[in-house]
Amino acid sequence: MSFDLVLFGGTGDLAWRKLMPALFQAFRHGTLPPDGRIIGIARDDLSDDQYRALIRSRFDAVDLDKRPTPQEFERFAGLLHYLRVDLSQPQDYARLAATLRERQAETVVMYLATAPALFTTVVQQAAAAGLNRPNTRLVLEKPLGHDLASNRAINEAVRQVLSEKQVFRIDHYLGKPAVQNLFALRFGNALFEPVWRREHISNIQITIAEDFGVEKRGAFYDSTGALRDMVQNHALQLLCALAMEPPINAHADAIRDEKLKVLRSLKPWTPETLDQHVVRGQYGPGKVNGESVIGYRDEPGVDPDSRTETFVGLRADIASWRWAGVPFYIRTGKRLAAREAHIVVNFREAPHAIFNAPPGTSNKLVIHLQPRDGLEMHLLAQGQENRRNGSTLAPVQLNLDFDKRFGTERVGAYERLLLDVIAGRLNLFVRSDEQEEAWRWVEPLLEHWRSDQREPRIYAAGTWGPSASSGMIARAGHCWSEEC
Ligand code: NAP
Repeated sequence: MSFDLVLFGGTGDLAWRKLMPALFQAFRHGTLPPDGRIIGIARDDLSDDQYRALIRSRFDAVDLDKRPTPQEFERFAGLLHYLRVDLSQPQDYARLAATLRERQAETVVMYLATAPALFTTVVQQAAAAGLNRPNTRLVLEKPLGHDLASNRAINEAVRQVLSEKQVFRIDHYLGKPAVQNLFALRFGNALFEPVWRREHISNIQITIAEDFGVEKRGAFYDSTGALRDMVQNHALQLLCALAMEPPINAHADAIRDEKLKVLRSLKPWTPETLDQHVVRGQYGPGKVNGESVIGYRDEPGVDPDSRTETFVGLRADIASWRWAGVPFYIRTGKRLAAREAHIVVNFREAPHAIFNAPPGTSNKLVIHLQPRDGLEMHLLAQGQENRRNGSTLAPVQLNLDFDKRFGTERVGAYERLLLDVIAGRLNLFVRSDEQEEAWRWVEPLLEHWRSDQREPRIYAAGTWGPSASSGMIARAGHCWSEEC
């Protein structure tokens, strides 16, 4: 199958840090269709060879085992091409159209790895140049808008020129092997479905923690914040994967219909829940991994009086028979104690105790998303120590480490998603109505914070966020996984 992959923003950070390494891995694994071109687009005046040399130099920053050998790069470079196009200039699109016409590839992928402000222009101008053909696929990166209205405006511009099945909205969390395994766990095994409900589950926690700060993206982050950057997309997609009903089959729309129902069932915010169920935090100075780091307001590009949240902890409730009364806790933030993402499904305690068990040790299922990728089932058993006293139990874990089981050469998130786009598989991409529903749910929070004159709660860098986040979940008798 022949393809042309046009990388709008082919010299940018996303292109060289994520997309090129992922495309190279697919090339190395032999899964990238060989009859293809990857065409980088930006405003610099570069020849194909200069672009290849630029990409080659950038691979020096990639992990050693993912870096091409000179021979591998030479073969990979054969796919790389460059075209100077100023995306704000309508006349420049004709050059792109001519380049694509000369080859007539079976599939043309337009990947918008450029500033979101350009998305609508690019979509409209590409269509005006005749690039919205039935074989066109459009890939949109987050953030897709900064609120419901701007998200709708982009989706509407896209809808004018392409059908929904031609649009691939990336949420790279859906490409993570551990997230696909979450679908496999729930819908490929009969074991969990009967207990996956309010009668057996007490609460579910989703943690997406970063130990780094805003790095060089202070200005971008200051106008974005953790709610838009992580909750509206990644965290809510994880919540959907955890809470959705079993789809009728594995087709993209069957899965997306069920995720949409979850988003529609999220309880709307009330003045009380806005006050009691959300914690907005911002990191101050502190120590991360033994090193002193500055606070958020001292970061380059950040307003010294900024009230942007670098931490969100919240409780979401789903109004459905399956989930009524089961809190879904989400927390995400920068400069936290560790870089890790995990989900904890806390089951209810045994209804009648005939053994002695340490308090608060009910079963839990921990799904590790990063940096390691695995499952832990926490059970109670009689260990060597307590055999003498047969009525006392101790916690034990069943561990499944996917890297050990399947090897570390597994397909990475962007690699998987790029291959899916080229093959036209939509399962792991977000539909416009899902995205709009997610924006609809977070928007009252954004409005609340805009009008709320209170400062965000400052937390020391290197901790798990403001203590109010523990207080919020303690009110329902729960605690974050590292606290209990
Ligand atoms: P970036 O480093 O600023 O790169 C932007 C790219 O777009 C550059 O190649 C730039 O090249 C090109 N560009 C800008 N204006 C252009 C124009 N008028 N005509 C042609 N090319 C133009 O941005 P980025 O960090 O890669 O982010 C790209 C997109 O991905 C953004 O929507 C971002 O929010 C999203 N994203 C990024 C990351 C990440 O890790 N970086 C993660 C998730 C999502 P020239 O300026 O030389 O033309």
